[in-house]
Amino acid sequence: MLKIQNYINGELVPPTGNQYLDNYDPARGKVYSYIPDSDEKDVETAVAAAKEAFPAWSVTPKDIRSKYLLKIASLIEENLEKLAKAESIDNGKPLHLAKTVDIPRAAANFHFYGTGILHYSAHSHSMEDTAVNYTLRHPVGVAGCISPWNLPLYLFSWKIAPALAAGCTVVAKPSEVTPMTAFLLSEICIQAGLPKGVLNIVHGLGHKVGSAITSNKDIPVISFTGGTKTGAEIARVAAPMFKKLSLELGGKNPNIIFADCDYEKMLATTMHSSFANQGQICLCGSRIFIERPLYEKFKTDFVERTKKLSIGDPFGEKTKIGAVVSKSHMEKILSYVELAKEEGGTVLCGGKKVDVGGEFSEGYYLEPTIIEGLAYNCRTNQEEIFGPVVTIMPFDTEEEVLMYANSTIYGLASTVWTENLTRAHRVAADIHSGIVWVNCWLLRDLRTPFGGVKSSGVGREGGFEAIEFFTEPKNVCIKLK
Ligand code: NDP
Repeated sequence: MLKIQNYINGELVPPTGNQYLDNYDPARGKVYSYIPDSDEKDVETAVAAAKEAFPAWSVTPKDIRSKYLLKIASLIEENLEKLAKAESIDNGKPLHLAKTVDIPRAAANFHFYGTGILHYSAHSHSMEDTAVNYTLRHPVGVAGCISPWNLPLYLFSWKIAPALAAGCTVVAKPSEVTPMTAFLLSEICIQAGLPKGVLNIVHGLGHKVGSAITSNKDIPVISFTGGTKTGAEIARVAAPMFKKLSLELGGKNPNIIFADCDYEKMLATTMHSSFANQGQICLCGSRIFIERPLYEKFKTDFVERTKKLSIGDPFGEKTKIGAVVSKSHMEKILSYVELAKEEGGTVLCGGKKVDVGGEFSEGYYLEPTIIEGLAYNCRTNQEEIFGPVVTIMPFDTEEEVLMYANSTIYGLASTVWTENLTRAHRVAADIHSGIVWVNCWLLRDLRTPFGGVKSSGVGREGGFEAIEFFTEPKNVCIKLK
């Protein structure tokens, strides 16, 4: 069975302690490879390599840095099929989703920052004939990048690409639950000839490898995507060390549907925004609020379409719902369905584990689930479930739905469906979230700032903000006379 290796100082190496963890294929519920169970020593070796590589990489001309990133982007594109299959097996997601979203977007991240750095310019401020100020931006140093399991290569590259473009060297940790595409990325970096030590990938558990990255005194900047609780722990450790922090955390995203929406478009998109990747996208809408005149019609159609979603082999051409990522995650999701019932909710469809049979009978499959009849402020409607479970609820007024939408500790993303232009702008302005999609979902322009508010995160990724995050500004003021 394949033993994944760490990528340190330009080489694929085993973990120092030579210990490995099981890597599960969630579609079959079976171990299919091994992951390094790395520890602090591996992180220290990786940090030493990144530190040594930093002086040269940070002054490598941007056009050369750009060429490396563009080479990596094109190798990801060339290996699309292989990477998509690896991600689908590692994560349980339908292959077509990995092929059309995750992997192309990972290539796009390297492409975007590989070209973006060429157009990035610092500012200058003239004080008429008295002085001129200009801002130098130096790469911060060794960046720590920690990412989750739901969009493994896409989110991993979303951090690594701007850090490398900015001139930082990197020590990165993918989620231990889905390490395979990060491993394949190491091979791609070797093939691209990326100088040794510029990117280092250390596999292993969050409480060993992740916390060793967070607490390492030679890592002054950390970009993290994951759960809110983990983000709080990282902030607790990093804040007294005055590290730069970007935290992209959990969500409980509202979908607000007004009766005047374009119904067919709304319904088709709501199917995706609810159940894409088994609801395991931080941007999925999990609380759906429908204006009362449309409620019954929406409920009937939404339930009917959801019941028809085919569940099973992630490689199946017709499969819409693959496996959830792990047994423990499946159990967590099911416990929320039980909680919803205790809280007075009615399960309109789904709510159970599915045995899809054959070689997949041990896999972690769940029926897509719709629940109604819950109060907006119950735990089911306030806590992140991160699975194929949504609640639906009617509303009468704009004020009421905004109160529901804004009632959670989270503020990551939201969608608004209406053909009324002024209302769209008004509601978008009043929703407490970092992203509002009007009449669409998951449409991304990489130039725009990305991130959540409240407990969904601090800092903004995306666009030139991400390059700036990995640099430190220094103002130089020159007196002219
Ligand atoms: P976790 O917070 O459990 O893990 C995220 C990463 O942090 C993993 O690599 C994990 O390692 C690591 N980690 C765990 N503990 C520590 C620690 N003490 N110090 C440093 N690193 C640690 O999140 P999940 O992987 O379960 O991902 C799901 C979460 O991510 C959801 O809440 C989702 O909303 C959020 N998310 C947010 C996004 C956003 O853009 N805002 C995008 C995508 C997901 P290990 O895997 O070994 O535990």
